[in-house]
Amino acid sequence: MQKLSTSKSVRDLRYSVIREMGELSAHLEDVINLGIGEPDFDTPAVIIEKAFEDAKRGHTHYTSSQGDAELLKKLAAEISITTGTNVKVSSIIVTDGGMGALTVSLRTLLEQGEHVLLMEPHFPDYMSHVALAGGVPIKVSSRFEDNFVSRPEDIESAITPQTRAIILNSPNNPTGAIIPGDVLDSIAQIAIRHNLVVISDEVYDRILYEEPFESIYSRPGMAERTLVIKSFSKTYAMTGWRIAYCYGPRIIIDQMIKVVNYSSACANSVGQRAAIAALDSDPSIVEQMKNRFEARVELVYSRLSSMKNIRVLKPKGSFYVFVDISQICMDSRKFAIQLLQEKKVVVIPGYAFGESGEGCIRLACTRSRPVLEEGMNRIEAFIEGYKETDY
Ligand code: PLP
Repeated sequence: MQKLSTSKSVRDLRYSVIREMGELSAHLEDVINLGIGEPDFDTPAVIIEKAFEDAKRGHTHYTSSQGDAELLKKLAAEISITTGTNVKVSSIIVTDGGMGALTVSLRTLLEQGEHVLLMEPHFPDYMSHVALAGGVPIKVSSRFEDNFVSRPEDIESAITPQTRAIILNSPNNPTGAIIPGDVLDSIAQIAIRHNLVVISDEVYDRILYEEPFESIYSRPGMAERTLVIKSFSKTYAMTGWRIAYCYGPRIIIDQMIKVVNYSSACANSVGQRAAIAALDSDPSIVEQMKNRFEARVELVYSRLSSMKNIRVLKPKGSFYVFVDISQICMDSRKFAIQLLQEKKVVVIPGYAFGESGEGCIRLACTRSRPVLEEGMNRIEAFIEGYKETDY
């Protein structure tokens, strides 16, 4: 019998490092998992109950490919307030999570072989999203000294005639950094100069600890070339409902609707009703979750800051803390595996986020404070007694 074949472009995708760490820890007991990039809170009951009621009232059918009409209307009102511009329903599409927005936007934008610039360290999935859409991911490095925000001159020098889009992520996974306003100004000018689309991944925009959140979308001339991705996943602890949305130039959104139509037909209808309930809920729900993340991040940041031979980046948003361990071990995978074997703590090695992340590890503050305290005790003991071993 002839051997069955699968697509080379899919075979070439690598399994995620996050998954590898999960598998390595699966058989161990008493593990503290600081690798999980999703809120540990359940979806607030008021959202679940309203979605359940709506499901019982018949909201269990396909919606339009663009999204549930009531949700789109609410989103238009909310986006118009947050951006200070009149954003119409025709400029918005509801997607299967932020991942769906990435898939659909890249498939809509890219011709085979076109380049997409990724700012390191970056959400690892961007690589595969670009590749699956036929594009080529091009990395732009960054440095700890710049809070891991790529320099505009480095972005511009990575541009070629094949470059089609730039993906920005602020607040950032894995660093918790925020792109400062002056850098956004420069990137906006670069995008306009080179006629690029910016995909601004803002899925952590409501988990913010310092500055007021600024989006490149609001820079002059950028509403015409920016696709903003926002998600209900992290903001409302709704990862499993798979609802996010994307807004931007109507000329692109119109084409994205076709891609949704022929891939999934529409986002999950009950999930979209849950999203309506989330938008209608008391804003204190989001505030309370944010405050809990903030207290945890503060705890982890201050504990790590007092440890020897490491440098810690103070997160300005998200629930991640990024730690430079290069004075102890340059090989982040080795460090993470040894930490797991010796102290049963899961962290994500920085190389997963691109070369600029090598020599660092990512910790997710998605566990309770006592668990984080214990995790910090174990990491401190590990660092103090560190001896390189081959596992
Ligand atoms: N973008 C970033 C930076 C993320 O970290 C994630 C999830 O971890 C996503 C997008 C996708 O989130 P979702 O598909 O749950 O909305």
